[in-house]
Amino acid sequence: RAKQIAGNASVFYDRGMNRAAEARLQAEQSLAQAIAAGEFVLDYQPKFSAGARRLCGFEALVRWQRPDGTRISPMDFVPAAERTGQIKRLGELILAIAIGQLCDWQRQFGELPTVAVNVSPLQFEDVDFAARLLRSLDEARLPHSAVEVEITESAAIGQLDRVLPQLRLLHEAGVLCSLDDFGTGQSSLTMLRKLPISTMKIDRSMVEPLPRPDAAAVLRATCALGQSLGLEIVAEGVETEEQASALEALGCTQLQGYYLGRPLPAAAATALLAAQSRADSMPTQPSSV
Ligand code: C2E
Ligand code: MG
Ligand code: MG
Ligand code: MG
Repeated sequence: RAKQIAGNASVFYDRGMNRAAEARLQAEQSLAQAIAAGEFVLDYQPKFSAGARRLCGFEALVRWQRPDGTRISPMDFVPAAERTGQIKRLGELILAIAIGQLCDWQRQFGELPTVAVNVSPLQFEDVDFAARLLRSLDEARLPHSAVEVEITESAAIGQLDRVLPQLRLLHEAGVLCSLDDFGTGQSSLTMLRKLPISTMKIDRSMVEPLPRPDAAAVLRATCALGQSLGLEIVAEGVETEEQASALEALGCTQLQGYYLGRPLPAAAATALLAAQSRADSMPTQPSSV
């Protein structure tokens, strides 16, 4: 009888495995279809200069927008796209959307905001990824500095041979490069010096415990390091005024987070740019008489 149960259990288990494999295959196919159909949109989260709190750019964040209107978070499909290699095509699509948006903004407003795009380490497996990005920018007649490439610390370290030459090419051509999620990986200080980057992006997990004194101490040292390497220091995940002013006092140069602005659909990001360009063209008002 025990044998029978074991036999049944193994049959059941096999069916379960098939079902999991099937579900995986289906997810892969629907992702491939979605890429072919272009079911992806970018939200743009504003970034502000420290102190003046002036809009200085956006981070592009991908969302899978299904035909029925539902939206899927990148956390729920980017890892799968990386596992299957589909991130290469998806990454190209994302860059094309960001470049298209920058072209629209260039037509509407004189000054261009910088758009930071998250790039997966797998995209660097393509040895001419960087060259292709530069060519797309040239074809669109955009300044190279309109795009910033965000790569995570662990990705940069894990694929250094592939990433380094391409980052160098981008950096030398004026595309800004930023080290994302700083403080979550195995932060090698040597690595920070070796990488041709312009920006250090401090992860939300380091910002969240502020204003606890131990968190402030770590951030102070981190900002000092960034400063001495001549980097922009962006803090992400800023959710309160208390955190914002503490980060400014600690030496961060840019702030990003729900407190200052949530990720916005393209139309709302455009409205924000329009408001800023109107404010800039207005004569400054005396604050009191
Ligand atoms: P990330 O690059 O570190 O992006 C920041 C994430 O934190 C975004 O989540 C953003 O919406 C969220 N966030 C911003 N401010 C706050 C805040 O004040 N509080 C909290 N709790 N969260 C905040 P999102 O859009 O869900 O993206 C998650 C991750 O997915 C990104 O982390 C990035 O690693 C990845 N990702 C997003 N877009 C792309 C893309 O186009 N390509 C690739 N390869 N990965 C992407
Ligand atoms: Mg990012
Ligand atoms: Mg980040
Ligand atoms: Mg992060």
